[in-house]
Parts: sequence; C-alpha cells; structure tokens
Amino acid sequence: MTVKAWLAAAMLVAGGEMGAAAQLSPADLLIINARIKTMDAAAPTAEAVAVRAGRIIAVGSTASMAALQGPATRTVDANGHTLLPGFIDSHMHPRPAIDEMSPYGTLNMAAEGGARSRADFTAKLKAKASRLPAGSLIIGHGYGDDLIDGHPTRAELDAVVPDHPVIIVHSSGHRMVANSAAFAEAGISATTRDPVGGQLERDAQGGFTGRVLETAQSLFAGVRGTGPSPRAIPAAVEEAGFMQEFRSFLSYGITGVGDAGISPGKAALYRRLLAQGLPVSIFAMLSVDHLDWLLANRDKPEWQVPGLTMRTVKIYAGNSLSGHTALLYGPYADDPRYFGLEPKIQPAVLQGLVRKAQAGGLQVATHANGDKEIDRVLEAYALAARDVPRPDARLRIEHASITNPAIIARAKALNVCFAPHSYILNHGAKLDAYGTQRFDWIEPNRHALDAGVCIGGNSDHPVSPPVVLERIQSLVTRKASGNGRVYGASQRLTADEALRAFTMGSAYLQFEEAERGSITIGKRADFVLLAADPAAVSPEDISQISVLATYLAGKAMYELVDGKPRFAW
Ligand SMILES: [Zn+2]
Repeated sequence: MTVKAWLAAAMLVAGGEMGAAAQLSPADLLIINARIKTMDAAAPTAEAVAVRAGRIIAVGSTASMAALQGPATRTVDANGHTLLPGFIDSHMHPRPAIDEMSPYGTLNMAAEGGARSRADFTAKLKAKASRLPAGSLIIGHGYGDDLIDGHPTRAELDAVVPDHPVIIVHSSGHRMVANSAAFAEAGISATTRDPVGGQLERDAQGGFTGRVLETAQSLFAGVRGTGPSPRAIPAAVEEAGFMQEFRSFLSYGITGVGDAGISPGKAALYRRLLAQGLPVSIFAMLSVDHLDWLLANRDKPEWQVPGLTMRTVKIYAGNSLSGHTALLYGPYADDPRYFGLEPKIQPAVLQGLVRKAQAGGLQVATHANGDKEIDRVLEAYALAARDVPRPDARLRIEHASITNPAIIARAKALNVCFAPHSYILNHGAKLDAYGTQRFDWIEPNRHALDAGVCIGGNSDHPVSPPVVLERIQSLVTRKASGNGRVYGASQRLTADEALRAFTMGSAYLQFEEAERGSITIGKRADFVLLAADPAAVSPEDISQISVLATYLAGKAMYELVDGKPRFAW
C-alpha cells in the first residue's frame, strides 16, 4: 500500500468506526512498513512505530497505527527497510574534524586517512611540511606499524622533515614517534630518564630511536602546547570542527556517545554545543585527575544539562593492546623476554581511587588491556565492593582485551561490565604479537555473553573509525581486512548480538536502559533506518549497508536523500 492510500484508509478509520481512537492525540511521527528489530525481548519485531513529543507511544503493525494519524503527523514509509534503536558508541574520543592540511589540522595517518604504506606516510608528511613555515610543529595521528613497515625512527623522520618538529601518534594512542627537532624542543637530552610507566626507546648505543611509549609521551606536552605553529585553536574553529565530527556520527546512525576521559573544559565545550542544538547525547566520563572536581560539581545546577550525563570517572590502569605495551603474565609471542610495560598507576593508588569514587556515588570505568592489568582492576573493584558496597555499581573495564577463564568468572561475580574493542577488521594484524594460543581469549565477547557479563559496543574512535556497521562487521567476522586472517573465530558474535551490544548493551553500561537502547513504549524515539538487515546479508558486506536516516527524539537529524547526506543540525 502506498503512503497516500494508507493515509486515505487511516482517515476513514479515524473518522468512522474507530471514533474512540480518534480522541487519542495524534502522533508527531509515524514510521510504517518497516522491518523493526526492537531489541526488546518482550516484542522483538514490529512493522511500525509512533512518536509524540520525542517519545515512543506505540509499537506494532502498520495497520494498528491508523488511529494515531492526524493532520500534522509526519508519516514515513520505510519501504521494508530495517529500523533499529539508535546506536550508542559507549567509549570513544570525539575530536574536532578539521582539514588535515590546514594550520590547525593534524595529519590523519590511519589507513582511512590514506596512509596505507610507508610511501603514503612519507608523502603526507612532506605535503604538510611544504605548507607550513620551517619550525612549525607537525602533528599526526593514527599510523599503523603493520601498514608502514614498522614504527618509524627519529632518523627516518629527520630524513623526510628536518626543519619542523614532528610528532606522529600511533593508532593506539599509547605510543608515538618524534624527530630530532621535537626531541630538542622538548628539552630531552642523553641524561633524561624514563618517566614511571613510560619509555624513551634507545638503540644499542644508547641513542634515542625516536619511539616514545606510554607516559613518556607527556615529555612532549610542552611541544604540543606551545610550539610555534598555531596550536591554540580558536574557539569558533574548534566548535565548527566538533559539529562536523558529530554530523559524521549521525551519518553512521549514532545517537549517543560515551566520551572516555575528559576534562572539565571539554564538559564545558559539550554544554556549549548542546546549547547550540547538538542532538547527540553525551555520556561524559571525567578523567580521574578531575575526580575531586566531579564530586564537587556534578550536582550543581549549571551542570544539569539535558543531553549531558556526568556520573562516571575514567581511570587508566593499563597500557595498550595494539601498541604492544599491555602488561601480561606471560611473554609476548614475538619476544620471550618482553611482558609489556608496568602501568604508571600503583595497585594501592588504584584501589584508593576506586574506593573514593564508589563512596562518592560515581560509576568507575577503568582502562585495562593485559591480563595482569585486568586482574589488578578486578581486585580494586572487589575491595571497593567489600568496603563501600553499592547494590548496582556497574563497574566497567574499558577494553578488557586479554583474558582467561578466571577473569571472566570474577567479572561476572562482581557484575563488572566490559567495553571491548571492535577493531580486528582494522588492527587484527597487530594481534600477531600475542600468539595464536591467546586469540580465543582476546576481546572475549562470546565468553562474556555465555557467562552473563554485560558488554557495550564501542569504536574507541579515533583508534578505529566510529562507523558502527564496520564495527558490527568486525565483531561478527573477527577478520582483519589487511591480511585476511581471522583472530579467535570462537569469539564471533551474531549480527543481532553485535547490534544488541551497540544498543541495549551500551545503554546498560550507561544506566540508561530505561531511557534508550530499544524500541519500547516510553523510551526516547532515537532510531536508525538501514537499507538492509545486518543479519540478512553476508557478514563481510555488513559495513556496506547504507544508513538511510538517523532520528533523535523523533526528528530525522540525518537522511540520505538521492544518495547525498542531509543534516537537520
Ligand atoms: Zn579510549
């Protein structure tokens, strides 16, 4: 039935034999003829949904919506396309999207940015250097050592760009490479010692290789903050960059994001963006450096901002999986003497911070990747549960990458949730360093679901792109696009399980399961309309499915019109 014919029939019904129904106030929006996956176990499928004042008021058959049709109702015929709850990316790091070659832009050295080989990497560096006066700082991010023949050295960078300080951060964010000019500007000399939790890698002669691991990156903070290039981005440029960033999220079907580790300054930025109409909800996890600020400010009126939630503190208690710094019980497969780096935070300090946050009524989300790191976090969580018990603390481990049966069992016993990586498609080859015997316990999504451990979907953007359907494909296939290998086939999720992680799973991690995450009467009308059901296409084609529209509170903030994106914000 066409929309026109349906509308005619609906008017007849409303004006005729269903007079009582006509007294119901009409819907603002009806989406009909959809294949709806509600993610609500009580009624998993439907054809149509009705929305009023931003909330879902009815879910059912197309025919059942007739009584809710009114003169001002917008009716969308979904033509059999798939409607889902809006996606929630529960752990990422939004950043302003600014042209990489502009003075304020940072070079995108990820595969998606075009750096798929050392030649690409070098060409991009040269291009940027040619646009900036000598001495201006060049910053890049996202390089993949597996794509560009290993981690570059200081000497290699010097050969390409001798006249500008250069800092290029690895895709993990946990290590970087810098050239001699950057080392000089940072004031690093032969006598500089490694900071706790970090390393300035040295060669056999004791010289710096230029590779900078974990907390040693902070030695370059001054270079990044005060370098001669215009590092202080004007507020208007920054805000426009964030708007661009969030528009891209809308085009991937994202309606809520968890920002994992922010400052009060970034919270204030979100408050400004929300006042300017930012439609995506922000679940802000404050860095533990700002624990006291969060405890003192979270209840103040000026922070009761619709769309901004601040109830969580983010702690770093571990290193990186893809950056090969995670602390393990056993050696890395490619170096029998290497067990990873000792994290900066001491177990006793970690325990104190968790206890303090829990006593203050906050949720704790702690970053840990290696099995030894994860055990320390679980120990801190167990002590907090004993000393300051709370009925529903929903403690989180961010990533929880390398696990074992005891870790899974203890996480379940403590009702700890995981926010696991979903990036094998992009970074699978980086897992080779851990050895095949570990693959079935890395990102252990199947083990977690079998044990009843809650998991939330996330990209850890910019570590992997926030393209949700690409993340879903990665969770379903666990196949690396670069080398075609599958890493831990036993831990594959079905498409529906992966979709559940990115909807109800993430909502649960954020204490928002009554508010969003499923298409259920009373919840926020956040939806994503897909051209196909991810469960109905070949797993390797999931990322190719078009996102046709993204609705927030019943408004289409993004639509694909004649193949082109159209934004209402
Ligand atoms: Zn992260």
